Amino acid sequence: MDRSLHLRERLGLVIDPELGASIVELGMVGEVEVDETGHARVQVSLTTLGCPLRAQIDRDIREAAKSIDGIESVEVVMGVLEPTAKAALMKKAREIAQRAAPLTTIPLRTPVLMIASGKGGVGKSSVTANLAVALAMTGRTIGVLDADIWGFSLTRLLGIHGDVEARGAKMIPLERNLGSGRIRLLSMGMLAPEDQALLWRGLVVQKAVAQFIQDADWSGIDYLLIDTPPGTGDIAMTLARILPQMGQILVTTPAIAAQRVAVRAADFARKSNIRVIGLVENMSGFECSCGLHHDLFGVGGGSALSGELDVPLLAQIPLDAAISEGSDAGVPFALGEPVSGVFHRLAEVILTDIAPPVGASGCSARLLDALERAVEAAN
Ligand code: ADP
Repeated sequence: MDRSLHLRERLGLVIDPELGASIVELGMVGEVEVDETGHARVQVSLTTLGCPLRAQIDRDIREAAKSIDGIESVEVVMGVLEPTAKAALMKKAREIAQRAAPLTTIPLRTPVLMIASGKGGVGKSSVTANLAVALAMTGRTIGVLDADIWGFSLTRLLGIHGDVEARGAKMIPLERNLGSGRIRLLSMGMLAPEDQALLWRGLVVQKAVAQFIQDADWSGIDYLLIDTPPGTGDIAMTLARILPQMGQILVTTPAIAAQRVAVRAADFARKSNIRVIGLVENMSGFECSCGLHHDLFGVGGGSALSGELDVPLLAQIPLDAAISEGSDAGVPFALGEPVSGVFHRLAEVILTDIAPPVGASGCSARLLDALERAVEAAN
């Protein structure tokens, strides 16, 4: 297929975080060109240029372009929609909202972060648990799905145990309050004993994961974090199909070997239309009680990888016995201050930059409401 057409098709998967619909379908994408040197130029018109979610749309467009072989560089030209185009977009957004029968109780506007890694043991589940806690401590409700089907651990890490109950035909996640926020958790481990789940393969696994999204009551959550099995896989693809707004945060260690598998995982994600939105380097150095710093797994891996994949390095988390001790006790590290600052900073980056909550930053949605009122008043 012609690369420009291919790119336009991929841009159809980029969701306006506020309007919860594809930027192509909303009529926000203008010219899309890819020249013979592999340089892509995409014109996008926003409802307002000062929109804080602009950075997210810009990043998502670049991610979509990177997934296409032969595209070497990307230029995103942002403009503003003309008033008549804004009115048309508003109409379209309403139509889409009415037409779309939601596949889940999770609105397209709710940010979904898939926490992934190229291989096991790099701290993916620890990062998921502590990030969930740090986000919840800002007063939000954080959904957590442990989809790491062959190694679920989040019930233990978060200290949330119990049997899943159903209301109507929907599973109700188990909850834990944290300050003014809370975590709502579902885990494969709540339904199947570990030795049984280990035998699950292929379609059974995909179906089980889909059920945890579609047949569960996730209403009211501000974010959903999903801990996925390491490596490449069908689970990620199943999730991406049901949750098109999903972005991936890749956890790696500073070791060279970990970087190579992380590159493969990112590559696979992009080929599966999953946006890689950030990296977290875990086990980055160790501070001993004598005050000396040791780089046990090498140094600079995360930033090198960030350059290679062209995605931001969101956090570097040191090796700290308190992280594993907290996990064993079901008291996540991020609950303690000030040592846990690193996870709170990671949460802050996500809240302010990587996947800001929709509404707080309101631009298009609020603007649309104002426009709609103006149109109604004029009629
Ligand atoms: P994964 O989900 O990638 O398999 P886990 O989160 O289960 O990895 O972590 C593997 C082990 O490493 C666990 O025992 C965990 O407590 C420990 N661990 C993870 N990150 C750290 C860290 N930064 N400092 C100390 N121990 C850690």
